Amino acid sequence: MEESLKSMSMDYLNLLINGQAFSDVTFSVEGRLIHAHRCILAARSLFFRKFFCGAVDAPASLLDPHSPRSPPARGAVIPVSSVGYEVFLLLLQFLYSGQVSIQLQKHEPRPNCGDRGCWHTHCTAAIDLALDTLAAARSFGVDQLALLTQKQLESMVEKSSIEDVMKVLMAARKHEMHQLWSTCSHLVAKSGLPPEILAKHLPLDVVAKLEELRRLSSRLPSSSSDHIPSLCTDHHHKIRRMRRALDSSDVELVKLMVMGEGLNLDDALALHYAVEHCTREVVKALLELGAADVNFPAGPTGRTPLHIAAQLVSPDMVAVLLDHHADPNARTLDGVTPLDILRSLTSDFLFKGALPGINAAHFEPNKLRLCLELVQSAVMVASREEAAANLSLDSRMVYLNLGVAAAAAAQMGYKVDDGGVQGDVRSRRSTVTQAGGSSIRPSSSSSSSIMYSPHHDFP
Ligand SMILES: [Zn+2]
Repeated sequence: MEESLKSMSMDYLNLLINGQAFSDVTFSVEGRLIHAHRCILAARSLFFRKFFCGAVDAPASLLDPHSPRSPPARGAVIPVSSVGYEVFLLLLQFLYSGQVSIQLQKHEPRPNCGDRGCWHTHCTAAIDLALDTLAAARSFGVDQLALLTQKQLESMVEKSSIEDVMKVLMAARKHEMHQLWSTCSHLVAKSGLPPEILAKHLPLDVVAKLEELRRLSSRLPSSSSDHIPSLCTDHHHKIRRMRRALDSSDVELVKLMVMGEGLNLDDALALHYAVEHCTREVVKALLELGAADVNFPAGPTGRTPLHIAAQLVSPDMVAVLLDHHADPNARTLDGVTPLDILRSLTSDFLFKGALPGINAAHFEPNKLRLCLELVQSAVMVASREEAAANLSLDSRMVYLNLGVAAAAAAQMGYKVDDGGVQGDVRSRRSTVTQAGGSSIRPSSSSSSSIMYSPHHDFP
């Protein structure tokens, strides 16, 4: 039986390889023609079945976004522009024979692999080909090929560069490939890269998950560090439930979790999540619970919800956060304010005509202008209020500083007289500020996270 299946698979593959023999459909991909057979494609793939039937819901644009949605005429060449030639051929090979090797020829020159003698077993070129194949398998609905690619990627990532592992991690998330996600997240967590570096490559919530994974693994005896249990702790479970509640706009449930289960909205990054993934109404309702700090800094860079709203160019979110006293002057650890983000987006837009990470088709310049106006006027209001409060503030500062200096001097056994304290205030003040600064900001080499506040007792 085994043998006969193998030969059947080879026979079908030969049909594809021999091209024009018995072919009744031709695809044109990157200027090259591929001859194929409707009945085989239709038998093996729901997408092609619908496509050849001209079914209304066949996403014909998958092949070519500009093609008409009518069934292809017999003999017509069908343009394919959504995937490359190489990947489309791999897809067809799999459909014809039920097997495919997603591997490059060794030493084959590839634009994304600089090493001339590379065997392309786990380099960027190899990873990229597998990721493209995974994406194509997913969009054409060929699940078995997606699973096969997942397995192959899992064996590749063990040896590939951490940048590539992060790329695969994101693809695993996008395509909901749990096994692959788990393998990659453990590899990245073990990499020892500090969170601020991770944040340059990965979104906020992924960095949070990785940090949590690190926390978990550091609690286990080192001998079992390779067998980290899946993220099924109470805390993680709670956060997942909270997110699901937010996703379905069920702020009432979140409120119950806060009151009944002691859920800490700041630790759980509830506002950050809601600003990024939910509607304005949900964010508003969440703020009105009064249980979340609107200026809570999160992630390795210490971004507040307003930073995120600015990055997303969402005037709705910016407005609702400012309404609830979000600080327009809040700075990340590297000193970036929400206004800075909007200004740099504006210059990106003016000079490059596009914004990184924002789909040009969905981008409206008006939204960016509106966000800028909202934040700018909030900054102005804040500075006017500050100016008005300055006089009384100044006198309080002097009082506080004298207090600190006097206490410190007393502790060190200095005799406090008027002149001495005055002379001491400057130096005391600077040491106090420095000490305060280093305890708030995690040093760049430490992997400690500020995603969750230190007082939180992790289960
Ligand atoms: Zn290579």
